[in-house]
Amino acid sequence: FTGNLGEITDFGLHFHPDEPALLQDGLTLTYRQLDERINRVASGIRAAGLGKGDRVLILWENDLRFVEVTLGVIRAGAIAAPVNPTLPLEKMREHLEDSAASALFASSATAAFAGILAREFPLRVAAAADSRTQGLVDYETWLAASSAERVSSDVTPDDIAWLPYTSGTTGRPKGVAIPHRMLLRDAQLLSQNLFLNTGDRVVISTPLFHMNAAACGLLPALYTGGSAFVLPGFNPVETLRAIEEHRCTFSTGVPAMYKLLASQAEQAAGDYSSLRTITCGSAPLPPSLIARLTDAFPAARFVEGYGMTECGPAATLTPLHAPARPGSIGPALPGFEIRVVDDAGHDVPTNDVGEIWIRNPMCTALGYYNRPEEDAKRFKPDGWFATGDLGTRDADGWFYFRGRADDRMNVGGENVYPAEVEAVLTLIPAIRDVAVVALPHDTKGEVPVAFAVLEDGADITADAVKEFFFAHGPAYAHPRHILFVTALPHTATGKLDHRTMRLQADRELR
Ligand code: ATP
Ligand code: MG
Repeated sequence: FTGNLGEITDFGLHFHPDEPALLQDGLTLTYRQLDERINRVASGIRAAGLGKGDRVLILWENDLRFVEVTLGVIRAGAIAAPVNPTLPLEKMREHLEDSAASALFASSATAAFAGILAREFPLRVAAAADSRTQGLVDYETWLAASSAERVSSDVTPDDIAWLPYTSGTTGRPKGVAIPHRMLLRDAQLLSQNLFLNTGDRVVISTPLFHMNAAACGLLPALYTGGSAFVLPGFNPVETLRAIEEHRCTFSTGVPAMYKLLASQAEQAAGDYSSLRTITCGSAPLPPSLIARLTDAFPAARFVEGYGMTECGPAATLTPLHAPARPGSIGPALPGFEIRVVDDAGHDVPTNDVGEIWIRNPMCTALGYYNRPEEDAKRFKPDGWFATGDLGTRDADGWFYFRGRADDRMNVGGENVYPAEVEAVLTLIPAIRDVAVVALPHDTKGEVPVAFAVLEDGADITADAVKEFFFAHGPAYAHPRHILFVTALPHTATGKLDHRTMRLQADRELR
């Protein structure tokens, strides 16, 4: 490798050019075909006068063209800035302004918004799939007119390759400046730790604009010369069909998705023997769900990773071939240092809760994109990144996620972690799903409120839930209210949407 992330497909190209690199329903691209299309994107970008350092906005749902455009932009030396394609126009406009992108690629679904943006901003390239929208060129026409020769790259591994946005779980999404070497290193680390090889095929059904699917699924598969089956979105039936029909060997995803996949697989009873590894990250996963998943996919081992957009993204991983430690997110990946610290930045004793700090010279080097005030808050002078997450470390250096610092509440002087309240409530058989948020309280400061989804046909009163809690958890942490709902709200990247629940609790209970 030259160190350009856009050339991550080169091993597969040289090893077996005519084997599939990417698949989706009814469509396959071999490494040779993918390479040619990436080259065309890269030369088209260069021909438009763009190169090193220029930002390119990508508004595309999961699709083979998302992958070739992203890698083509990066191969040209420019910076790929993929954003959530389901955002409303104002949010897309904010991303365009934030990244100051000078080109834009859109799917047919986002073409209408892309056309409006192309009329408002001076863009060097504005292309969309199947498009006759005014102000846009048709993507395939543009591609066919570009050269298939490989452009030479003038970037160094320290230049920015990818500008993903954080999930916006705690506020406005922040652009993260990720250098080429950080994602190459991550692809290498994950493929080694998941023991991937040229025969592996990942099934991707979570959004590729988010680092979880892109950096923990797609890139490791391409790096090793394996392949990726890309689904347009998550649907449990379609995902199972893809695993079975296309003999996928590993899967990447988030807890919300695996919950649905486990129930579907329990009913479907298909042949999922090809699935060797299931990886999960982005949000906490209850041990009961891991048990259900491994029952539903008996041939697969389960691996959990923890990390964040800012870290490349994986920072810990449970080892594939070691006995599981329930609730643990694993030890630090090679090259990462992880500390658990108190408010003054001093290490806390083993098994005590503190904030997780991460250091890796490869990663977290460039910081947020044009957010000096965020950098100052999170990036500490000696290279440490303060994650805003709470956790513990055991005597052997395995870590345990305990929630986000922002979600911790102070209930009459006691620290209460939503996760500990949730852990007790999930023991109630009638409760299928539960989330706990803080509600401001006149005398206590804050009190826990639970959102509960009941099992089909189950019935339980709020008083019975509280009684159960008193019998199994600390009284000061008991949920003062229980709101029964039909589903918990999730963000586009599959995380529990605590902000929406806090607003709802505030509206209904205060
Ligand atoms: P924003 O930073 O914009 O508020 P976000 O933090 O959700 O959004 P991401 O970078 O997508 O954006 O997510 C990283 C966060 O996801 C971590 O800081 C952590 O809170 C959570 N997370 C990641 N992996 C795990 C895991 N295995 N278990 C529990 N939580 C996890
Ligand atoms: Mg974050």
